[in-house]
Amino acid sequence: MNYDTNKLAELLFPDVTGTVAELEEKYPERNLKEGARVTRFAPSPTGYLHIGGLFGALVDVLTARATGGVAYLRVEDTDKKREIDDGVSAIINGFNSFSIDFDEGVTGFNTEKGDYGPYTQSQRAEIYHIVAKELVQKGLAYPCFCTADELSQIRSEQEKGDALIWGYFGKWAKCRDLSLEEIEKNIQEGKPYVLRFRSDGQEDKRISFDDIIRGKIEMPENIIDEVLLKSDGIPTYHFAHACDDHFMRTTHVIRGEEWISSVPKHIALFKACGFKVPKYAHTPQVMKIDEEDGTKRKLSKRKDPEAAVSYFVEEGFPKESLIEYLLTLLNSNFEDWRRANPKADAFSFPFNLKKMSPSGCLFDLVKLNDVSKNVISVMNAEDVYSYIAEWAKKYDEDFFNVFTADPEKSKAMVNIDRESPKPRKDIAKWSEVKEYFSYMFDEFYAPAFELPENIQKEDAKAILESYLKVYSTEDDKDVWFSKIKDLCEPLGFTPNVKEYKKNPELFKGHVGDVSTVIRLAVTSRKNTPDLCSIMSLLGKEKIEARINNVLKSL
Ligand code: GLU
Repeated sequence: MNYDTNKLAELLFPDVTGTVAELEEKYPERNLKEGARVTRFAPSPTGYLHIGGLFGALVDVLTARATGGVAYLRVEDTDKKREIDDGVSAIINGFNSFSIDFDEGVTGFNTEKGDYGPYTQSQRAEIYHIVAKELVQKGLAYPCFCTADELSQIRSEQEKGDALIWGYFGKWAKCRDLSLEEIEKNIQEGKPYVLRFRSDGQEDKRISFDDIIRGKIEMPENIIDEVLLKSDGIPTYHFAHACDDHFMRTTHVIRGEEWISSVPKHIALFKACGFKVPKYAHTPQVMKIDEEDGTKRKLSKRKDPEAAVSYFVEEGFPKESLIEYLLTLLNSNFEDWRRANPKADAFSFPFNLKKMSPSGCLFDLVKLNDVSKNVISVMNAEDVYSYIAEWAKKYDEDFFNVFTADPEKSKAMVNIDRESPKPRKDIAKWSEVKEYFSYMFDEFYAPAFELPENIQKEDAKAILESYLKVYSTEDDKDVWFSKIKDLCEPLGFTPNVKEYKKNPELFKGHVGDVSTVIRLAVTSRKNTPDLCSIMSLLGKEKIEARINNVLKSL
């Protein structure tokens, strides 16, 4: 171009007086120890938090924690089309539910913390305009007045021709060579324009960068004159990324793999602006196996309820479980670490980006359930009680009222087979508790006595009748069990399981069958936690009534 670029800069940005040098001073390099990483999670406020978002944010926070760095939350709200009212709250609530704590950034509706803000892109117009103005001054940006029609015309010509790349570049970039007079005239006429990057990339050149997760990646250099500011002055993602990650002093840009193809553009922009290019790590997608056709696919907001983080809150998965499970997906050495540090806070795991697999990771609800059962099994009864009450209060009021009516009884109930070296692993989420313990509450108990095939009616009757005669609420576990053993022989069963296995033809069954009949009569279940504890919580009246009811039905 053969005009004074300063003149153009004044023409385009008459009100911008700040300078990049001032911004550099206002947002200085962070004073962190050697090796500390500054990461960010940068969602668009689309009104819900995707499980992939939680996954990504976890990577950001763990990376910062493991290096003594900073993780911050930036809201990228420049794409008004994708935005919904109060979309930020859904994201913040999602993070709060899972104790994802950012050191800096947006903390709520119109609130934030940290010295590198504002952390919401729509409040950063001044910064983008200062940087854009300097790019114009340096001859690295220009206004483009092409209309939507003209752009689609270019596109269709490119599609017809044999161009390898489509976009605004080279001979297609008509506005690149407008004279200052032409630009002035267009502006006087009120023609809308965008600000474009003046790329000096060459079609035959390649660039490479080291992706921390994927290693060296080589790609053609960027040659496109990308839009920096849209006609309303709002930056594109690409330009905002360069400005924000520079002035927020991000050292490691960790983001979804869908951005890999944009890296050449981003490197070109960072360089043009005179900014140091950050390190990149592109994380894999969170995938699942499709129930219908067995293929691996992205979790979809439309098809998969578990795509939204709120699903896990509503289902009552403890936050610890989901975090624990995501960590197993993030680093394959997490499980070894967990075995060596069974009680450690998951966030103290020495996470390593380099150990992340670049291929899509499979989100498997069945595995999450298993992990969650483990996590819940080692919680103490007091915590389990509070978690259940908190969940039920919000999602199942009937259950809440019954469950919290007698807190001591409910705590004792959830403590059965808990707080022991080998706790029972049977509850994966709080929404299961009502059904799981339904026999503990008359309000939810629906008796359904069904004998196992190997036990005859008369025998069941005899077992229950004999048991009622010896049953006492005073019995501790040992007495309780010895009474059941004592029932066996007179009724043709054996107290000795081994003996039964040796000579099954000699007996009607063994002590396990006898206790099963009692268990069924009292709970309508073949499997429960420790029956003696259940019976002592239910109390004499209920036990006798339930057994008598079954006897009547036999
Ligand atoms: N706002 C972008 C998105 O939601 C974030 C990409 C990035 O982390 O740089 O996809």
